[in-house]
Amino acid sequence: MTKRKVRPLRLLAVILGGAFAVYVLLCAFQFVATAVEAISKNAKSESKRPDPEFADFTGQIKEYNSAVLMYDERVSVDQSLMLINRSHLIRDDFSPEISEYKGTGLLFNNCLHEAFSALSGEVSEQFGEKLYVSSAYRTAEEQKREIEEQGEVAQDLGASEHQAGLAADVYTLYHGGMGFEGTKTGKWVIENCWQYGFILRYPDGKEDKTGIEYEPWHLRYVGAPHAEYMSKAGLTFEEYIDSLEPEKLYRITTADGEYAAVRYSGDTLSGPESFESAVISDDNTGSRIATFLIKSAG
Ligand SMILES: [Zn+2]
Repeated sequence: MTKRKVRPLRLLAVILGGAFAVYVLLCAFQFVATAVEAISKNAKSESKRPDPEFADFTGQIKEYNSAVLMYDERVSVDQSLMLINRSHLIRDDFSPEISEYKGTGLLFNNCLHEAFSALSGEVSEQFGEKLYVSSAYRTAEEQKREIEEQGEVAQDLGASEHQAGLAADVYTLYHGGMGFEGTKTGKWVIENCWQYGFILRYPDGKEDKTGIEYEPWHLRYVGAPHAEYMSKAGLTFEEYIDSLEPEKLYRITTADGEYAAVRYSGDTLSGPESFESAVISDDNTGSRIATFLIKSAG
């Protein structure tokens, strides 16, 4: 009987095969660990955020002079709550408060720089993907070109939020337009952008309210707590603005804190007697909306 000789080639194959199997096992382990981490992270952020409460304000109310309030050091004035659509066109004298976003050449309204940076940072961290922007601010000239090129799909001149720099058309590599919502990243952005003050401005099934076909890529900044409330209550921006009775002070409680908001058109407005900070924005319907952060959570 001859002893079977172990051939060097066979030995090499066994070693390589073994190493490959270990590698596959490690990858599988890494994949499961990442998935578990993602799931627990999601579960955590979900459980920390109950549905926002929207009610009449019941605390101490104070009458403020609008002009005086605007100069209060706790108050900032921005354009975050401008309702822009075919019935509420951008006025000719409107000047968008825009600036370049992080040296990218993109122009965004100043009010959303920080929020967009936080949103895209979270996308990179969770999915290892970059959230690209195909369209940010558009000049009237650019919007005219868009109308010429896209026809019906493009908003009328003055009816596009892009002309105020308040919207971002987003995509990930190889997944733009309708394809965006079919990806894990796209789904997450659509479901979670409210955490960063954005709403999906033209949702599916709300064409009769917005007048615009479903656009899973068009994010609009409105800020906290409005984005959270609209998103959870399933309201379009049109419906939300419509639901705010003039001069009435509302209390909006979210996981981030307690807010009060009032839509007003006169020289005076009601507000909570004490507050940490406030944002006042023109709503482009002849009124302004003041949003007071009464107390941040934590
Ligand atoms: Zn858009």
